[in-house]
Amino acid sequence: MKQLDHFLRLFRQESESAGLSRQQFLHFTGRGLAAGALGGLAASCKTGQSSTRNRPTVYTAQDGTRVPSSQWVSPPAKVPDKPGEPIELEAWKAKTERQSETPAPLPDDQRVGYTIVGLGHLSLDELLPAFGESKKSKLVALVSGSPEKMRKVAQQYGVKPENCYSYENFDRLRDNPAVQVVYIVLPNSMHAEYTIRAAQAGKHVLCEKPMANSSQECQAMIDACRRADRKLMIAYRIQYEPNNRMLRQMVREKKYGEVKFIEAVNNQNSANPQHWRHIKALAGGGALPDIGLYCLNTIRFLLGEEPTEVFGYQYSTPGDARFREVEELMSWQMKFPSGIHASCATHYGVHESRRYRVHADRGWMGLDPAFPYEGIRMEVAWAEGKVEHKDQPNLGQKNQFATEMDHFSECVKENKPPFTPGEEGLQDQRIMEAIYQSAREGRPVKLPEVKKRDAFRGPEPKES
Ligand code: NAD
Repeated sequence: MKQLDHFLRLFRQESESAGLSRQQFLHFTGRGLAAGALGGLAASCKTGQSSTRNRPTVYTAQDGTRVPSSQWVSPPAKVPDKPGEPIELEAWKAKTERQSETPAPLPDDQRVGYTIVGLGHLSLDELLPAFGESKKSKLVALVSGSPEKMRKVAQQYGVKPENCYSYENFDRLRDNPAVQVVYIVLPNSMHAEYTIRAAQAGKHVLCEKPMANSSQECQAMIDACRRADRKLMIAYRIQYEPNNRMLRQMVREKKYGEVKFIEAVNNQNSANPQHWRHIKALAGGGALPDIGLYCLNTIRFLLGEEPTEVFGYQYSTPGDARFREVEELMSWQMKFPSGIHASCATHYGVHESRRYRVHADRGWMGLDPAFPYEGIRMEVAWAEGKVEHKDQPNLGQKNQFATEMDHFSECVKENKPPFTPGEEGLQDQRIMEAIYQSAREGRPVKLPEVKKRDAFRGPEPKES
């Protein structure tokens, strides 16, 4: 053993004099010293000489290739056999440093093909660019009511003219095998119709939140996809986002003890009373189904429990044209079977603020902001003796849209149910209907108790 230590020390000195980094040295020693090099060192040890510095040192690589140190730059990358596994590059950062992630995109012919339906803000600002960061999904087609806009977008993203559809000839998607998933990014009232038509055309459906404008519509969407044997996922991006997922793990592991109370807020100021978001028939409601839904859905996701009672309070400023049909404010409470209480509010007429905090008996954990596309930040607090600790763990950012699309693509490729299926959207819709009823009637409204945990979710997504 002593002799081996001595060999290793000598080998390290040799390596350093030959210009090898510590990492390269470890690369060799970690995989067992190459026979030739060790043999040479052993021999020089026996004679009490170190190898000569003038002679080029030759290393024998794993495959037996002999490489003079003058040509030796870095160990060869480990190239996986299967697509989807990352190429392993030479490690160079200390384990104590934050590590990077090497993406492993699938080759084009193995990706799942998408059509985006509706070319508004979310599609143009976020989804189409997100295909550039996705690893398993590709854009192949577009659906829009505006041929001019679609032509421009198709040019920007390399979509063939024959893969551009209107709402009228949407059903012809049936004849396009390149399209496997229809991603619906339309006003809320149109989600049900296009989900059902997509399923009937033989396509899997990724549908934006809120799922629809009523639980009847949600059920019809689920039934249509089931009948056509197609998958249906609701685009709850927060449930795939690393900070929110880590916080959920902390809640479930009782990192700071029992969770007792959660507060959540999602606010933004809107401007245009003509926009579909302010027309009840198109939007279904105001702040609640659009942005308040994030508070509701995320709390359910964190806890895995379903509320058994809700109490809502609704308000709109008299005379404000934006809120003639839909609510400006919804504030609501939710009671969960374990005794946890949540207090939430959502507002369409104040400056943007999107956050939540989970209060447990020995500390709290929260995200502020919690729901934007980027810049989500975690903060946790706990006490130790006289010290109150606050920490801001930084998990970095991932493209949330690429992550959720890739999850759905994986489900399609591996024939698995999605983590956020239609049933998850239906449950949110039922709870929102109870909140509206409570606000209308001015009393708490009870919901049926759901005993199973994570009752409406599919198998957990793969963590990358
Ligand atoms: P938007 O108004 O910017 O885009 C809607 C698109 O639908 C437009 O291209 C519009 O031309 C088209 N459209 C077709 N028929 C229409 C009609 N009758 N009236 C109005 N528009 C019509 O809206 P958006 O912000 O892109 O939202 C689209 C969907 O995505 C909504 O369901 C919304 O809730 C959801 N969304 C989700 C997120 C998220 O983070 N997951 C973010 C924003 C929006």
